[in-house]
Formats: sequence, structure tokens, C-alpha cells
Amino acid sequence: MSFLKHEEILSRCEKINQSYEVDPRFFDNIVDDLLDSEQDTETVILQGFQKLLTEVDHEIERMETFTSMKPNCFMGCSFCCYFPIVITKMEAKMLFRSIDHFSEDRKKAIYEQWDAYYEKYKDKLSHALAMDYEDPETKLAYKKLDLPCPMLNPETQLCMAYEVRPIPCRTYLNYSDPQVCAENDMPKEPFSYEFLYTFYFTNINELIQALYENGEDVFIDYPMDAWKYDYLPAWIKQWREGLLDEV
Ligand code: SF4
Repeated sequence: MSFLKHEEILSRCEKINQSYEVDPRFFDNIVDDLLDSEQDTETVILQGFQKLLTEVDHEIERMETFTSMKPNCFMGCSFCCYFPIVITKMEAKMLFRSIDHFSEDRKKAIYEQWDAYYEKYKDKLSHALAMDYEDPETKLAYKKLDLPCPMLNPETQLCMAYEVRPIPCRTYLNYSDPQVCAENDMPKEPFSYEFLYTFYFTNINELIQALYENGEDVFIDYPMDAWKYDYLPAWIKQWREGLLDEV
């Protein structure tokens, strides 16, 4: 099997910068359709959350068609699940509500995994969660801790909430030899489409704002929760301790 070299990836991605335009209507239409629907508020929010996340995947696929690239990421390769994942409190609440709608078996597996995880990684977590996520040095220091994401199934190495996994998990893709992720804490080859966060976030924010202004019960402290960021393991910890609404 032949893999793209780093220089080739950079040159194809440069094509995106130079001549690809994201069509915002793909994202806007999701919000418009949901606001016009007759569904209850919680369904509208959770569908909006999942659909906008999925639209980021679709947008990446459109760009991959444009650049003729295919990712070499495969199921069970989880090296990127050791990077810090930082999300807003609003996203954390939507993630937890989405998990709440999973089947009983799936929820039980996640909650048991969290029980084991917070016990096993107590020391590493106290170190990791004290790191400043805005410091550019943190990403490497966190990765070196070898601390997996709490959503990662330790047996299968698969994400336990794959359909609602956060944006950083979707936008980091490797078009080169997968071995580069195994051999380096910070491989240079993978490409990040993190600029797509804006399209997703603007629209989820717009959806919640419209519902909030309509006086609907949005289960989110809006707009405060939209601007509080922290590590995913920190939000899960607070949620498990019943402190999510107190910080
Ligand atoms: S949320 Fe899922 S995909 Fe993202 S880092 Fe955690 S286990 Fe990996």
C-alpha cells in the first residue's frame, strides 16, 4: 500500500486554502429545518447537536473529494484519543444528554468505564486537569502523560459515544502512513480541519439562542455555558460528582 508523503499532503491541503469554499447552507439548513419542526425542545437540541457534528464529517468528505485524499485512520487506532479534548460546558451538557438517550446496556458500559477510569487514572488526572489548555506547550505535555480519553473503550480501543464525539476527534485525520501516529507523540503528517469548528459552533449557538429567546427550557445556562471551556475528563468528573450545574 502506498501512503502520501507529508509534502504532498501539504500541497493538496493548500488547494483547500486557495480555491475551496465551504457552503454555509449545509449547516444553516439544519438549524432552519429544526426550528421549523414541531418536535419537542430536547429533541430539537440533541438532533441539532448530532446533525451539525455529522455535517462536519460530510464537509471533510467533500474536501477530500476535492483534494483526492482518503484518510488512513482505521477502527481501533486510537493514538489521537490521548490528546487533550477541550469543549464548552454547553457541548458537555448536550453530550451527556445524548448519552442519556443511549440504550441501557450502552449507558451502563459507559458509566462502568468511567468508574474504573477515574479510579485508575486519579494521579494522572490531577496532573492533566491542572494544565493550562490555552498554553501551546500543553498538547505535547498532556499526550506524554499517556492518559486516554474517558470515552475510549480500553478493550476495543473504540469510542463509546462515536456519533456524538466532539469536533477535535472528527477533524484530525491522517492521510499518511498510520505508523506515524504510533511512533510520534506529535506526528507532523496528520491534517487538522479545526477551522470547521466555526461553522458547527455558530450554528449550534444560533439554535440554542433561538430556543432560549422563545422561552423554551434549553437545559443549558445560556449564554454562560457556551463560553466556558474545559477538558472533556473535567466535565465528566463534574457531571459524575453532581457539580456540573454549580460551576
Ligand atoms: S471522545 Fe471518542 S473519539 Fe474523541 S478522544 Fe474520546 S474516545 Fe477518542
